[in-house]
Amino acid sequence: MAYLTLKGLNKIYPNGFHAVHNFDLEIEKGEFIVFVGSSGCGKSTTLRMIAGLENISSGEFYIDGKLVNEKSPRDRGIAMVFQSYALYPQMSVYDNLAFGLQLQGIDEDIIEGKVMKVAKILGLTDYLDRMPRALSGGQRQRVAVGRAIIRKVDVFLMDEPLSNLDAKQRVTMRAEIAQIHRETGATTIYVTHDQIEAMTLADRIVIMKEGYIQQVGTPYELYFKPANLFVAGFIGEPPMNFIKATVKGGCIDINGTKLDISANLGQYKNAYEGKEIYFGFRPEHIKLGAKEGNYVLPATVELTEMLGDNTNVYINIGDVNAILKVNPHEAPKVDTDICFSIPQEYTYLFDAETEKVIG
Ligand code: ADP
Repeated sequence: MAYLTLKGLNKIYPNGFHAVHNFDLEIEKGEFIVFVGSSGCGKSTTLRMIAGLENISSGEFYIDGKLVNEKSPRDRGIAMVFQSYALYPQMSVYDNLAFGLQLQGIDEDIIEGKVMKVAKILGLTDYLDRMPRALSGGQRQRVAVGRAIIRKVDVFLMDEPLSNLDAKQRVTMRAEIAQIHRETGATTIYVTHDQIEAMTLADRIVIMKEGYIQQVGTPYELYFKPANLFVAGFIGEPPMNFIKATVKGGCIDINGTKLDISANLGQYKNAYEGKEIYFGFRPEHIKLGAKEGNYVLPATVELTEMLGDNTNVYINIGDVNAILKVNPHEAPKVDTDICFSIPQEYTYLFDAETEKVIG
């Protein structure tokens, strides 16, 4: 059995709302797991069931082989960092960090050693005498993280810990969280709606929609081998382009351009004859111009956005819209007609009805 085992977890709130459905997951010791999905998909509810802050309606949760459904949050060996920092406003940074340990009656010398160590990891050494109101948002969040990691815990839960920070602070704190994880080795479950945070921090990502797990995998697997249309559209920025089409003789017709997709359909060619599919490709996988052996499509440029390292090109293929990501030096002009190539190995097909990937 894995270190943490979540078996068929369900959450039905007292008002009857079924927020989490049959959540199954095995987590190894020391793993950094990220729950990601849009707001309301059940990430926090699942995390709160793990923390013991929300009772489990049905299913089983094991820590190190022991069933802990009925155990109180304190007895689970879990620390949690929330979105809001919840520091004690009338206590210095030092006391905020030390308080939990003081309550446990630990020797003050030992506490001081621990506070100094955590302060060093988090770059708070020069701020130990300050009150929370005299700290920036990023520094306050560091204190909140410090309070959680100062206790020796086996499992560390974080619920959108960076959402109150500005964009720059988020990037810095993200790197610090990764560093803390390397140093403490604590099994971590981190909740976010931000796919970049998920991709950069996770060993494995659990992507959720409307209370259901959509896919569990490494960032690489989710990006290159999405299980369905939702995952393909969620991971990646700008998102994957999808074009709906009907398969006829192993081909699809995109506004008058016929593409033979038999190679992508492979063994499913006959099964999809006459059926609707989504033809998917990522903005960053195309090349401008016509390349032999690729799928080549003509398009009209609607709008361009120069972002520095790349330019997003918004195109129309008849009434189909898509986005291409190109080198700014090669960006086509607005209102011009272009063509672009999609390598066959970077093309994804999805069943239009089930939305599952084909093949
Ligand atoms: P997320 O963390 O992914 O944003 P949540 O787990 O907070 O989502 O919420 C999942 C769903 O459960 C949402 O539709 C939310 O409105 C609902 N929900 C959360 N808390 C309660 C509650 N106490 N009672 C009823 N429904 C709730």
